[in-house]
Amino acid sequence: MFTKKTITDIDVAGKRVLLRADYNVPIIDGKITDDYRITQSLPTVTYLLEHGAKLIICSHLGRPDGKINSKESLAPVAERLAEKLGQPVAFAENCVGDDAKWKVGELQDGQVLLLENLRFNPEEEANDDNFGKQLAALADIFVQDGFGVVHRAHASTDAVTRYVPSVAGLLLEREVDTITNVMQAPKKPLLAIVGGAKISDKIEILTKLIDLADFVAIGGAMANTFLAAEGIDTAKSLVEKDALPLAKKILAKAKQTAKERPFVLYLPQDVVVASSIDKTAKTRIVDLYDHVAADIQAYPGKVSPEVSHLKDDEMILDIGPSSAAFIAGAVQLSHTVIWNGTMGVTEVPSLQGPVGPFAHGTERVVEAMLGEYGHKPFTVVGGGDTVGYVESQGLVSLFGHVSTGGGASLELMSGKTLPGVAALQDKEGN
Ligand code: ADP
Ligand code: MG
Repeated sequence: MFTKKTITDIDVAGKRVLLRADYNVPIIDGKITDDYRITQSLPTVTYLLEHGAKLIICSHLGRPDGKINSKESLAPVAERLAEKLGQPVAFAENCVGDDAKWKVGELQDGQVLLLENLRFNPEEEANDDNFGKQLAALADIFVQDGFGVVHRAHASTDAVTRYVPSVAGLLLEREVDTITNVMQAPKKPLLAIVGGAKISDKIEILTKLIDLADFVAIGGAMANTFLAAEGIDTAKSLVEKDALPLAKKILAKAKQTAKERPFVLYLPQDVVVASSIDKTAKTRIVDLYDHVAADIQAYPGKVSPEVSHLKDDEMILDIGPSSAAFIAGAVQLSHTVIWNGTMGVTEVPSLQGPVGPFAHGTERVVEAMLGEYGHKPFTVVGGGDTVGYVESQGLVSLFGHVSTGGGASLELMSGKTLPGVAALQDKEGN
């Protein structure tokens, strides 16, 4: 249950409403390459407009570190938003100050103004009290809908709420509700598929998931560190050396858990390797544990050691087909699947077809989650790069919930309090 007041609990007609959205979208050469975060904010935006608010929207974009630069301007977002809404979106060159104040004053009920990048002002990330006050002064009501930023206490997530009544938007409500429910009362069996690059980012969530889930499958570069911790020679693979002791601890915890109740921690048994991250790189499969296929192929000759070992210049770039099949099988047994982190390097395009040379593992696991092998579980997807991949494949609508927040979804899953949510008003009776 979401315990914070939302826009549906208050009256917004004729009010100046400051909406904190997360329009931190990728922009290349002035063009937005992925507008998922914009489309996800539309229910809140249209609700407010249809209910007669004078709507002021603010957001950050990128990491300008308090300095103005044209590459990180939100101007392209104003244009895209206008297209989506089918109405003009005014734009203010700074999120505070005279221009913003004047443009807010001009707003009629049902009109929209987008403010320039909050992070052009160093006070935003510093959670500067006075800056929060200036933002609050633009509006009668503050609405937090930027799920991707509520794990940070910044001026637009925290300080602003001290000076104006603050409630949640519809996206924030849905994100927090769905993710909290899946962590507190998941329909079991629960499978967690965790991949991506860094263990240290995901350590807390891994520990929590081992406590909670029936199966935890590890892929991506994260698996490399675990394989290294198990004594496997990972050659040039991306391994987080500092995290080796941590990986050992997690493995021990998983083994202990498996003694206490039915639980499986799954590490890749085969991997796709190449000597460079390149679309022309020659790939091969290394079967780390059980080289039956190689045995059969080589028979009556002997299998070469390369079949189960990386060469010095090779790196692991994807999980192998046996591993993907194993995870797909676990998906078939699960009612709920939490997925965070790709199984391999999914960004490299293929020379030959739609699936990149190191994206087959991720693709197989995705197919399983989407029910291609018969059973379709409820799926919750998080992580910036993971969601980017799902988006690039046009598959967002086929998953149960695709989160707009990377770090925020991980922190929420780990059970941490999100300062930007805590700062909002409670619903009556809470
Ligand atoms: P998310 O943003 O979804 O939380 P991460 O940022 O943790 O995910 O990791 C995603 C990145 O991990 C992607 O850029 C992907 O290319 C990279 N990656 C996945 N597997 C490997 C691997 N085996 N070797 C190197 N990089 C990998
Ligand atoms: Mg990432």
